[in-house]
Amino acid sequence: VRGGKMNTTATPMMAQYLEIKAQHPDALLFYRMGDFYEMFFDDAIAAAEALDIALTKRGKHDDADIPMCGVPHHAAESYFLTLIRKGFRVAVCEQMESPAEAKKRGSKSVVRREVVRLVTPGTLTEDSLLDARRHNYLAAFHIVRDQGALAWVDISTGAFHVMPCAGAKLGPELARLTPREVIVVDSAQADWTGLVSESSAVLTTLGAAAFDSTAGEKRLCALFKVGSLDAFGAFERAEIAAMSAVAEYLDITQRGNLPLLRPPMRETQKSAMQIDAATRRSLELTHALAGGRQGSLLACIDRTVTAGGARLLERRLASPSCDLGIITARQDAVAFMLDQTRLCDDIRDALRGTHDLDRALSRLALDRGGPRDMAAIRNTIAQAARLPMQPDLPPLLADVARDLTGHDDLLALLDAALVAEPPLLARDGGFIAAGYDAELDDARKLRDEGRSVIAGMQADFIAQTGITSLKIKHNNVLGYFIETTATHAEKMFAPPLNDTFIHRQTTANQVRFTTLDLSEIETRILNAGGHALEIEKRLYSSLKEAILAQAGPLGALARALAEVDLATALAHLARSENWVRPKLDDSRAFAITGGRHPVVEMALQKQGAPFVANDCALSDARVWLLTGPNMAGKSTFLRQNALLAILAQMGGFVPATAAHIGIVSQIFSRVGASDDLARGRSTFMVEMVETAAILNQADDRALVILDEIGRGTATYDGLSIAWATLEHLHDVNRCRALFATHYHEMSALSAKLDGVENATVTVKEWDGDVIFLHEVKRGTADRSYGVQVARLAGLPQVVVDRAKVVLEALEKGEREGGRKAIVDDLPLFAAIPAPAAVKQPGSEVEARLKEVLPDELTPKEALALIYELRGMV
Ligand code: ADP
Repeated sequence: VRGGKMNTTATPMMAQYLEIKAQHPDALLFYRMGDFYEMFFDDAIAAAEALDIALTKRGKHDDADIPMCGVPHHAAESYFLTLIRKGFRVAVCEQMESPAEAKKRGSKSVVRREVVRLVTPGTLTEDSLLDARRHNYLAAFHIVRDQGALAWVDISTGAFHVMPCAGAKLGPELARLTPREVIVVDSAQADWTGLVSESSAVLTTLGAAAFDSTAGEKRLCALFKVGSLDAFGAFERAEIAAMSAVAEYLDITQRGNLPLLRPPMRETQKSAMQIDAATRRSLELTHALAGGRQGSLLACIDRTVTAGGARLLERRLASPSCDLGIITARQDAVAFMLDQTRLCDDIRDALRGTHDLDRALSRLALDRGGPRDMAAIRNTIAQAARLPMQPDLPPLLADVARDLTGHDDLLALLDAALVAEPPLLARDGGFIAAGYDAELDDARKLRDEGRSVIAGMQADFIAQTGITSLKIKHNNVLGYFIETTATHAEKMFAPPLNDTFIHRQTTANQVRFTTLDLSEIETRILNAGGHALEIEKRLYSSLKEAILAQAGPLGALARALAEVDLATALAHLARSENWVRPKLDDSRAFAITGGRHPVVEMALQKQGAPFVANDCALSDARVWLLTGPNMAGKSTFLRQNALLAILAQMGGFVPATAAHIGIVSQIFSRVGASDDLARGRSTFMVEMVETAAILNQADDRALVILDEIGRGTATYDGLSIAWATLEHLHDVNRCRALFATHYHEMSALSAKLDGVENATVTVKEWDGDVIFLHEVKRGTADRSYGVQVARLAGLPQVVVDRAKVVLEALEKGEREGGRKAIVDDLPLFAAIPAPAAVKQPGSEVEARLKEVLPDELTPKEALALIYELRGMV
């Protein structure tokens, strides 16, 4: 209710609503009323539209109707999801007492309500709201005295990270992590709130107090129950500030119900390969250009069988390592599993029987879990111990294998306590196994006996009354009752039966009764049932405590499972797709034999077409200048070499027959820039800004991939820019680079610059058509075949023929020096066979139609006309 002032005419309930709403102006307030969440005023209008549900009215406020809509509380989750996707946040307001309790308090019968949770994109935990195979990060960015830092957390798994991050690095880091929500201080500078808005994250602001590093340190120490944060690393002020804002925001959204956070892990930018946002986009690492996972490298290489493994793969692919030791250890693990085919398959089979441990743990910690999460933990612990991990594992796997076992006590407890397949929620009980708790067993026995007594009573009542259709039923309002049809009921109202049977209710067709015995049994059942439920709830809490006490080791188990899953998945991939282990070292080698583009290869496979493998040799800062017609496969070749470097440094194998790569520190890829209309820049401007970034940043360990630089401007401008860019890369950056261009003139540079080599993607001309061989060879392209490609694309033959004439004239002009006279030399367009000479069915039909006067046509004539017209096409 923007501007919704409290007034004296408001009902007590409305007054409560307005008071709570005032505290949450930027969220939709889901106000719990019985079995529904209801929304009012502007919230109702917005929610009804976003959810496509009916907007109604309820009462009046300030003499105007109050717009209202509602959703059933048991289905609320799916509505949350829709609202979150549409950019809303939701404040969930629950009833904190029953109406009876409210009456007892004498508070004009309005039950006490409180907001128990804020649902925001970065703070989701429900499986149904999350993508199991992706992280769901909430990040915070802050600058303290020119030092910037970024902290991020996935509350669905508890992973908590922080790193120093200068303002200029924020864009690339957001592109790497793809958080769903980013918190910044409300006085933040426009340039970094702009960066957040450009990423796909939702921007959230908090007051400066949330970022206070002194108070933050205390808050974090309390959160992790340590005396000093030094236990986790030496953090800068900005890092503490960013972490503190994350903690504050969790406090606000979870209403003090803090998630299970793992101690913060400090990352540094040096340890990871630097890949900026534009490069990630153009290489389609984790998201395809079309959006989503489909079509990305990630989707193409993902053979993991667990959600935790899939998330680890995404993390690794998003930040390949520069640390030779780390990479080698990962490669050793993959190589081992590739070698041990049987073992690898057995492990993958066993992993399929595990559950998402991280998310089950988080839900329990947030009190959003249930017995089924506990069973998931139990089954996963048991299954992990069954993984056939051999004694002679490589170090990385030997390390994680230790975390797979040693949970026997918890397993024994959960095994004894839980039934095999417990219900989702603890609310209705029924999840504690028989024989675990004697008191519970007794209570249940009493309750169940009561139920069979009732079954017996029904038979007795039938005998007593002679009404065979009489039934004992149960509902939440009346409890147990006897039901007969209205016709039979007369008997029960008359003596002697009216002594025993007490009338309770008459409905349209039925009359309901009770008896003293029935009420008595009912009370016994209710008491026993209630008692059993109480015991189960108590046991639930103690099981939860027992599980959360093991959160540390269970977290390690989850990580171990993910690591094993990833190693076996990458081995499986290497085996099925014929990939090899790349040789990595500290040299500046880049020698690929038989390299392939995994995503393009897979797409071609589906069409039954082969992919042509290609070599690439850029060792010691060589630059390849690649020419060749459009559609020949230049961009594919460029991209595939960048992907090979990323896959190699992620610790995986690569699609090639051999590869030798000296550690690549940064990858830059500019392949086919597109208009950035949102920022009001032209294609050319975007391309120049991005090229400038590369030339300013690329060091001698970088790998640079440039496609068609200078395309967006006049020929000579473009050529000069491309030329100068290549010279700069060669002379100043001295990095390994692939440079594709359609300016054949540039081939001459290879004679001048000794590090530059010409290469071309070959095509063959056959019968006037081009055939793409997709083969990359040393040398230059002889022609550009643009006209032939245009014809393949379906340009009208007249235009293709005309283009050929123009091309010949241009080439002739060039040979004879100067392009000036060309326009005069060319025969006029009109000299080409007029379009009329080509059969144009459209015009004929049009002409005939113009003669027709529809008003004067009989139906029969109209039909004849249609036949006539049809005959013309
Ligand atoms: P260019 O950048 O030269 O215009 P692309 O790299 O976009 O060409 O490739 C055009 C198409 O050719 C691709 O979509 C792919 O289907 C096919 N292609 C590219 N490289 C290969 C290859 N090495 N083997 C087989 N087909 C290829």
